[in-house]
Amino acid sequence: MTEIRVIGAGLAGCEAACMLADAGYRVVLYEQKPVHFSPAHRSEKFAELVCSNSFKADRVESASGLLKAEMRLFGSVCLKVADGCRVPAGGALAVDRELFSQGVTDEVRSRENIEIRNEEVTSIDPEVPTIVATGPLTEGALAEELRRLTGGDSLYFFDAAAPIVTRDSLNMDRLYSMSRYGLGGDDYLNAFFDKAGYDSFVEELINAECAELHAFEEQPVYEGCMPIEKLAKRGHDAIRYGPMKPVGLRNPETGHRPWAAVQLRREDEEGTMFNLVGFQTNLKFGEQKRVFSMIPGLENAEFARYGVMHRNSFLNAPEVLDGTLRIKGTENTYVAGQISGTEGYMESAGCGMLAAWFLMARLRGEEPVPLPETTMLGALMRYLKTPNKDFQPMGANMGILPGLKDEIRDKKERYAGYASRAIDDLKAYLEENR
Ligand SMILES: Cc1cc2nc3c(=O)[nH]c(=O)nc-3n(C[C@H](O)[C@H](O)[C@H](O)COP(=O)(O)OP(=O)(O)OC[C@H]3O[C@@H](n4cnc5c(N)ncnc54)[C@H](O)[C@@H]3O)c2cc1C
Repeated sequence: MTEIRVIGAGLAGCEAACMLADAGYRVVLYEQKPVHFSPAHRSEKFAELVCSNSFKADRVESASGLLKAEMRLFGSVCLKVADGCRVPAGGALAVDRELFSQGVTDEVRSRENIEIRNEEVTSIDPEVPTIVATGPLTEGALAEELRRLTGGDSLYFFDAAAPIVTRDSLNMDRLYSMSRYGLGGDDYLNAFFDKAGYDSFVEELINAECAELHAFEEQPVYEGCMPIEKLAKRGHDAIRYGPMKPVGLRNPETGHRPWAAVQLRREDEEGTMFNLVGFQTNLKFGEQKRVFSMIPGLENAEFARYGVMHRNSFLNAPEVLDGTLRIKGTENTYVAGQISGTEGYMESAGCGMLAAWFLMARLRGEEPVPLPETTMLGALMRYLKTPNKDFQPMGANMGILPGLKDEIRDKKERYAGYASRAIDDLKAYLEENR
């Protein structure tokens, strides 16, 4: 029987190992703990949750809930365990983190065809089918090996990302499509501040609460990636001469140059998501929502992704992966989890399942069939293969799903429409491809 190597027993690695084992493959699962711990991992158990104990919303009509519903259809082990160790958390699925890790560890250990080796992997054998699921803190020799396999500078080590908002949630009456000096057509959406609005915005920004950085993350940040709040603290007008400079822009309603401007750049081809240009930030998520909602037009903005500044190794997926989580130019080497360019616990776990799924298709001698892009998992896979010069990891959000055939104005109903379409399409896909 073919031996498959899975490197890393985090959320992605455990899902991949279990799916492969359940399909009858012999799996060798490598986990460096307890021989070596990353700066954020503490427990000897598998599928350790290094920060929050929440897997976010559980309602199928929410992006995270839909992702989970799809993963349940695939037979997710992490969700089976999570359902058994829930703690009360309103509409979210939150777990007792110890019981969760113990439960996933037990699931893995109960499979006789998974052999566990506690060692740090430093190289990849190109002949052996392998899934690399070593997470956002991958470092050392294995990081070098990934760099070598992906051709140099496609493995990023620091994530300085600006927030992304969904177009659906923007107030288009207060935003203007234009580019600076009229060059580039209507590429950007622009939000304009008058002096009073700018003054209050800066006041809130410099006093907002930042997320804590781990000691290993306190490293100098390139000037170009300076968090907006840090820049704002340099002087009241600092950001008006930086990311919020109004040059080359005119407010069509007044005919004048605005006092300050925020530009929103299209994040995807369809223009369903926009990022706030130059707004990389380390503010706490709630604070981002509060302060950035002061930007005209963003009063009710939904954040597809909040800005982050943390250590995060991830591959430039559109450049180096082939759409099935396999590294381009290799026969047998797949990546899964956060390192592949997904973001979040459940996204990582789901991605682990998909890496196993695509690999198994190839081992059967078939070309993997892509998932319907109407599903959250399929939309995430599509995001990972769509060229993007500012590629940043992405979590589940409704903004990455294609629109419905018939437009539904009511947001609740629209999301319910996305969810039922996704579930129907995934069921049909699984029926055909399982
Ligand atoms: C500090 C921090 C906080 C985060 N907080 C959140 C949060 O609150 N919510 C959220 O949704 N996401 C959070 N994330 C993102 C989170 O890491 C991922 O969502 C998720 O844990 C990634 O799963 P994974 O399986 O890809 O990697 P991991 O869960 O990190 O698992 C990787 C595993 O591989 C092992 N490993 C690494 N290198 C090797 C090697 N060379 N050989 C053998 N084994 C190896 C590690 O020991 C680990 O067990 C956070 C990330 C970080 C770094």
